[in-house]
Amino acid sequence: MAEIRLENIVKRYGNVVAVKDFNLVVDDQEFVVFLGPSGCGKTTTLRIIAGLEHPEEGNILIDGQRVNDLSPADRDIAFVFQFYALYPHLSVYDNIAFPLKAVKVEKSEIDYQVKRVAEILQITEFLSRKPGVLSGGEMQRVALGRAMVRQPKVYLLDEPMANLDAKLRIDTRAEIKRLQHEIGATTIFVTHDQVEAMSLADRIAVIHQGVLQQIGTPNEVYNKPKSLFVAGFMGSPTMNLLDVACTTNNGDLVLKLNHTDIQIDLSQQQQSILNGSESTSDFVLGIRPEHLTASMEEVGRKLPALVHLIEPLGAVNILDLRLGNHQDTNEPILLRVRTHPTFNVDIGDRIWLDFDEKQLHLFNKNTEQALW
Ligand code: ATP
Repeated sequence: MAEIRLENIVKRYGNVVAVKDFNLVVDDQEFVVFLGPSGCGKTTTLRIIAGLEHPEEGNILIDGQRVNDLSPADRDIAFVFQFYALYPHLSVYDNIAFPLKAVKVEKSEIDYQVKRVAEILQITEFLSRKPGVLSGGEMQRVALGRAMVRQPKVYLLDEPMANLDAKLRIDTRAEIKRLQHEIGATTIFVTHDQVEAMSLADRIAVIHQGVLQQIGTPNEVYNKPKSLFVAGFMGSPTMNLLDVACTTNNGDLVLKLNHTDIQIDLSQQQQSILNGSESTSDFVLGIRPEHLTASMEEVGRKLPALVHLIEPLGAVNILDLRLGNHQDTNEPILLRVRTHPTFNVDIGDRIWLDFDEKQLHLFNKNTEQALW
């Protein structure tokens, strides 16, 4: 079991800085997910930990020992790649058994371990076949099985479920989580799928352009995004982000939606944070679609909106709305709200939106950092 410590890691490929001054501690037995869009540096960081890439700067420590100069084989890490690398001449059984045979584990123990992981991954019936006759998803499961029979210090998994169909992905996800808890191995899992990240991780490391944007529990990164990038990346549909300006109304600080006369009142606490913030008048207001409530009546503090599109998803509907009273404005403000399917509306209907001010997020437009 192991703690992984990355200190000021920098990796360049020519002019591209793939990893920028990356600092992270993954605790012993922790399950951390690297999450970010394609090309953000997830795989490169993982390969640096494995010893398959060498950083220009920084230290990699496993259990306090600097491993920069150790070969991949000496780091006691099991790595599962996005693209499975199986031995084509060996059966599925022998592929999975390979790491145990290499360290001369007893035959009966090998047999027990291979059959155990084969059952978990639902590949028992393929054990005698060669990889060449398997589908992509089946080969991926064999590659996972080969990592799972070992008991290394660290598991590094790079999109290991990319080739599985939707149902198997969800089943395998649950198995990986259960197994990781059982074995207690420190694990880093790479994905660009935020649902996968939320469901698996003890903590999620959100990465963008080689920079670690935020590290926190799934709850923290979803409910307390530190930057506009994290706010916009987490959630499906994503958070509504609206340009606002800060202004005063009867001595109170309020937010005014750009291109409208809509004002949003703030709590005393929110006003004092704004008062103490670096002086700027441009902000971005964030609110998640599930934190807006839609109704047909104008009661209390409500924003008018027109229904632009309806996306029925079964358990919920997503309504695309144009904020304001008129459909013909030049710069429509679009936002999305999640509604119950029994909320009956048609395209073009006028509805009213309400929200809890505690669910609002505010970002400085220049620094892109969250104020709350
Ligand atoms: P994906 O989800 O698409 O796998 P990623 O987040 O894992 O993406 P990386 O593969 O780590 O991203 O790549 C980070 C950046 O480094 C990208 O701009 C990529 O083009 C670049 N890069 C990665 N490997 C090399 C290489 N061997 N030579 C040159 N550039 C590279």
